[in-house]
Amino acid sequence: MGRMDGAVHLPEPAREPEPVAGCDVCGALDRQRLGAYAVGDRSRATDCNVEIRRHPHRAATGER
Ligand SMILES: [Zn+2]
Repeated sequence: MGRMDGAVHLPEPAREPEPVAGCDVCGALDRQRLGAYAVGDRSRATDCNVEIRRHPHRAATGER
C-alpha cells in the first residue's frame, strides 16, 4: 500500500540463478524476484532464487 520512507538501498545481488530462456515459470519467478527486490523483500527474492534454481527442466528440449 504505502511506500516506505525514502531510505531504500539496493541489495547487492550475490549469486542469482538465471531464469531459463523460454521457460514461463522461470520468467515469472524472475519477475517476482525483481518485484521483491523493488520493495526490499529480500527473503522473498531469495525464495524466488531457490525456486528458479530448483525448477526442473527437461534435458532435451523436445517437449513442446
Ligand atoms: Zn524453469
